[in-house]
Amino acid sequence: MPIRSDHNTHHHPVKLVILGRDGTINQYRDDHVKSIEELQPLPGALEAVARLNQAGWQVVMATNQPGIGRGLLDMASLNAIHIRLNQMLAEKGGRLSAAFFCPHTPEEGCDCRKPLPGLVLQIGERFGVDLATVHMVGASLGDLQTAQAAGCIPHLVRSERLGNLSEEQFAALAAQVPGTKVHTNLSAFAEGLIQQERRSKADARGDHAAQADSGPET
Ligand SMILES: [Zn+2]
Repeated sequence: MPIRSDHNTHHHPVKLVILGRDGTINQYRDDHVKSIEELQPLPGALEAVARLNQAGWQVVMATNQPGIGRGLLDMASLNAIHIRLNQMLAEKGGRLSAAFFCPHTPEEGCDCRKPLPGLVLQIGERFGVDLATVHMVGASLGDLQTAQAAGCIPHLVRSERLGNLSEEQFAALAAQVPGTKVHTNLSAFAEGLIQQERRSKADARGDHAAQADSGPET
């Protein structure tokens, strides 16, 4: 369990969302995204990042890229893919503040390959943020376990990366990490987070009319 620190929480705390890449913002490929041409944003995902940005959230990507360790792509190709992704985002009015990646294969035994928390801890340090306030969205059990290990708030989006899970199987997967919130896709996550923030601001003001309009708690 991380210890909550007062660092950076006095005035305008950093509002940070960490996203997995494959299956969360772009289409997952079994054989890794190796070139710009293979980058395929998921429907509505770019717009979701833009919505979050407009609501004051910084969005950072955290991704395992063992294809580098295996020699399937090099750093220059990976950088080009992430630059292209940011160009596509810019067209929708969004941006990623950073893309953190683990280039290692499982055999290398690093501490940054998800589900280990190393990559997320690096992000926490870079942005000076209390990880307990950070929402981490992923499309696999590994992402949820990463969020748990780093002390972030875990979110799971449905993705074909998980295969054709029934509702029960999807719920059972999410239940493996307590506190996980589930969403149809990144758009639904973004809308949910923005609404939740609106509600808690209304609560802080004691604005009961806004509460009454806000619908059931989820
Ligand atoms: Zn690593």
